[in-house]
Amino acid sequence: MTPKTTLTDGSPVTPDHREIDPRTGMQKGYVVLSAEERAKGFVRPVRRTYRHLKCKGVTTMGQALAETYARDPYFYSGTFCAHCGTHFPVGEDGEFVWDGTDEKVGT
Ligand SMILES: [Zn+2]
Repeated sequence: MTPKTTLTDGSPVTPDHREIDPRTGMQKGYVVLSAEERAKGFVRPVRRTYRHLKCKGVTTMGQALAETYARDPYFYSGTFCAHCGTHFPVGEDGEFVWDGTDEKVGT
């Protein structure tokens, strides 16, 4: 059976992928929907840049992550702010909007 999720580079999800790299504040790896799953179609535009409402900083993510949001807007519970150097919640009550819009990330 083909796994529904992979890491961003297409490799299998590892048990330690959520470990934080102290140099960057980012996880060792991020889970995305598999390429096969993403190819089933998007329900939102593919957007790569979002703004953190608290610090106003923008962060740009990789294509596989952006496509996962476009395929399933509710897939993630949080995302990384490159300016704050840590993760915060997404969703209706979250702290991020797609850059240039008032649309919350994760909705
Ligand atoms: Zn921030």
